[in-house]
Amino acid sequence: MQYSRRIAFISEHASPLALLGGQDAGGQNVYVDALSQSLARLGYAIDIFTRRTDPGAPEVVAYDSGIRIIHLSAGPAEPLLKDELWPYMREFRNNLLAFMLRTRVRYALIHGHFWMSGWVATEIGSLLSVPVVQTFHALGATKRRYQGDADTSPSERIAIEREIVRKADRVVAHCPSERDELLHDYHGDSRHITLIPGGVNIEMFSPMSQVEARALIGLGGDGPVAVYVGRILPRKDIRNVVRALALVNEGRSGQPPARLLIVGGDTPEPDPTMTPELGEIQRLAASLGIAEQVRCVGMRQPSRLREYYCAGDVMVTTPWYEPFGLTPLEAMACGRPVIGSAVGGIPSTVVPERTGLLVPPRDPSALAGALMQLFAHPERCQRMGTIARAHVERRFTWPLSAERHARLYSALLSAQPRSRTTSHTPALAHWDIERDDESVGV
Ligand code: UDP
Repeated sequence: MQYSRRIAFISEHASPLALLGGQDAGGQNVYVDALSQSLARLGYAIDIFTRRTDPGAPEVVAYDSGIRIIHLSAGPAEPLLKDELWPYMREFRNNLLAFMLRTRVRYALIHGHFWMSGWVATEIGSLLSVPVVQTFHALGATKRRYQGDADTSPSERIAIEREIVRKADRVVAHCPSERDELLHDYHGDSRHITLIPGGVNIEMFSPMSQVEARALIGLGGDGPVAVYVGRILPRKDIRNVVRALALVNEGRSGQPPARLLIVGGDTPEPDPTMTPELGEIQRLAASLGIAEQVRCVGMRQPSRLREYYCAGDVMVTTPWYEPFGLTPLEAMACGRPVIGSAVGGIPSTVVPERTGLLVPPRDPSALAGALMQLFAHPERCQRMGTIARAHVERRFTWPLSAERHARLYSALLSAQPRSRTTSHTPALAHWDIERDDESVGV
């Protein structure tokens, strides 16, 4: 493999091998997985470094052609919440350097995913003079703004993100609102920010007839169906959707009530002890008298999600904020319109009146109005779904996203000073890996 095509991805908490839908396994896992696969098809070799959560997992997993997953020890080899990982990042960095030294693998470029991996990437990048690309996936300042005291991120997060924005050769923003946050909250230099949206697997997510989809998931009965797919977190505000459904059903006397399917959670069977937000949703639905109309399904792996999206008339997601939002793209790829809140990445993917509708967040009446509009006009839903599929095919596929990343990598690599392409080994030898065992200081 040509050296200039060997890339290190660092994704400390989000491995492509994780089961999706739980508290800390969602969009980033899908993104790292799908982007690496599409880059591998363009001839890149990608090593994805992630934290070891299972003592029995091999160090190196040959994941797919051109892609390896490398498990690095950092803290206890067990699942931990991502907000608990920062104290182990120094160990992660050291073990990554030790791996490179031992295996003599050299990377032309390091791409960090999420802030802690970005810290590791910039540390190693400056030590080895290797260019660094950073994708945050979510920003601490935004999270703090919306979650306030409920934000459990380490207190250093925002300062470290600022440092990464300053040091990385390029920061990838997923959508215009993330770019604005990088410019305003982080004082980023616009010349160092590149806008590259994520994508969707348009083979896996493709239209299917509603009748077939409903048969596959065992959904009978009448009445229109809205579908939510995603992690079950307070900030996704599924409670807003439940409140809106209650309003919709108040206006449907004499007609079969509208229903809501909720896909996601930490377990395949919905379990409020494992996913407390599910309990909140179920209690709210019961208190509004619509428990029968709200069906929590549990987590499903990506290959099954098409059945759920296609069983619905409309996909709905109204988070308080959303760094990008892959699920609206998945629904649109399945030929279903999306009602989404006009926050974060959602307005950059959902085209109002054409591929769905946008509503303000935390506004059940506005959402109820949008749901009623679409439920009343099934043929409009179908038309929007057809346009949505074409929109996604044209703009939001992973091969397209990978081509844009490849262009960015090439630009950075061709701008490299010659010294950056020399062997890394001498620099590594000066890195005192063994003795550098202080805590990260949190
Ligand atoms: N997901 C899944 N199974 C589930 C719930 C979610 O595979 O039960 C996937 C979903 O298909 C999507 C990702 O998790 O690809 C969630 O990504 P999104 O960008 O919508 O939200 P995030 O997790 O980044 O907040």
